[in-house]
Amino acid sequence: MPSSSEATSRGETDPITLGRRIRHLRTTQGLTLDALGEKVGSAPSLLSLVENGRREPRLGLLRSIAEALGVPMSELLSAEPPSRRAALEIALDRAQRGPLFTTLGVPAVKPSQKLPMPVLEQLVGLHEELARREQLAIATPEEARRANTELRLEREARDNHYPQFEAVAEQLVKAAGYTGGALTHRTVARMAEQMGFTLLHVDDLPRSARSVTDLHNGRIYLPPASTPGGHGLRSLALQALAHRVLEHDRPRSYGEFLRQRVEITYFAAACLAPQFVAVPFLEARKRERDLAVEDFRDAFGITHEAAAMRLTNLATHHLGIPLHFLRVGADGALFRGYANDGLPFPQDVTGAIEGQLICRRWAAREAFERRDRATEFYQYTDTPAGTFWCSTQTGSMSPSGGPDGGSGAFSITVGVPYAHAKWFRGRDSQVRRSSGCPDPACCQRPAPELTDRWAGEAWPSGRMHQQILAALPRGAFPGVDDAEVYAFLDKHAPE
Ligand SMILES: [Zn+2]
Repeated sequence: MPSSSEATSRGETDPITLGRRIRHLRTTQGLTLDALGEKVGSAPSLLSLVENGRREPRLGLLRSIAEALGVPMSELLSAEPPSRRAALEIALDRAQRGPLFTTLGVPAVKPSQKLPMPVLEQLVGLHEELARREQLAIATPEEARRANTELRLEREARDNHYPQFEAVAEQLVKAAGYTGGALTHRTVARMAEQMGFTLLHVDDLPRSARSVTDLHNGRIYLPPASTPGGHGLRSLALQALAHRVLEHDRPRSYGEFLRQRVEITYFAAACLAPQFVAVPFLEARKRERDLAVEDFRDAFGITHEAAAMRLTNLATHHLGIPLHFLRVGADGALFRGYANDGLPFPQDVTGAIEGQLICRRWAAREAFERRDRATEFYQYTDTPAGTFWCSTQTGSMSPSGGPDGGSGAFSITVGVPYAHAKWFRGRDSQVRRSSGCPDPACCQRPAPELTDRWAGEAWPSGRMHQQILAALPRGAFPGVDDAEVYAFLDKHAPE
């Protein structure tokens, strides 16, 4: 939703603030609208519209007004409200012009000089609280799914490549002495030091937070360094740093929270497999027609999932290969997905793909049927959208799950359209499956003979999916228990 405050932050003139600044200067100089109108050769009614932010003045008029008031143009165009009172009047005006106010069906109050300050303060306070509650209310699961879908479509449209994050990551790892291979924990700590932070490992992190940063004392608290498979820690530390590097503010909505999550994950991945090393590596493997996620993973010492996701950042932009990525649970439900190659993901009515059951014939599910799960599984799949080649690796999480939840067995898949299979190891796979999904006859409807036998005789009791009903805890940061976080920081703060 484009708001006036956003326009201001982009350096554009906000007509409401501009109007208030003009009125403030005019009244402090004891000028009436008529008097100013005479000086600038404009009708007082037009000036009134400008002062009320209802009309944007032409540049010529603006120049005349500045001249008449004896101030430089920049004084008029400043984004600062001229006084506390003006700030409140602007806030009230803005609130009453917003979509939320119109849904209330109550009369507006003119934010004029006649309104006593305490009344203004209270009205603005109420509007702010109303807006805050509205923001929280939309973080329902459905809105969260919509926001998430919007972000995924945006990433797919730009081939999941963000040059600005690549650049800042490259600059920071180079400054910390990185030249190639796996980014060591020591180098990550040096990056933190160079930004004024110390990494500290604690075993009592608040359960709702993945890491906590003490901005006052320059400390980043992370889970214990001895966590098995602790290479995720570099990523967590980098993600915590990313909030500072990318100058994040507190997320004001669930959509913003998700966007920040995408950005910090991207930044961490771009540090762990920096473009200036990763791209030449991938280009060489492509020339050899021996691209493999497992090699990419091992060359940079990252998880299979991180390597697969990182491939989506680089493969299309740098290697000209469209591709898809899936993380699927053993139950067949999609946990996370990305595709800019036309793979037909199942979707719900909001366009969300998370939680949807994917086709039983896809490699991401067929891989669970294999005995040997130590190596990647390769499969060609014919779908209504064409033939895809996929490479799938299965694995399992500890029962407590990863930093983002998700436990039990899962599979990580990277795949490409048939024409691009030639660049990958495993292209000679003889495994070929046919998928008709989303046609329910493909694999969702029970076989007719089984239906004949069991329809009316089966009574399974459904499992409740917790995330469907759970709203995000309210607080300064969506999803985070502030009371727990502040108590934690207080406990660990230096004397
Ligand atoms: Zn199917």
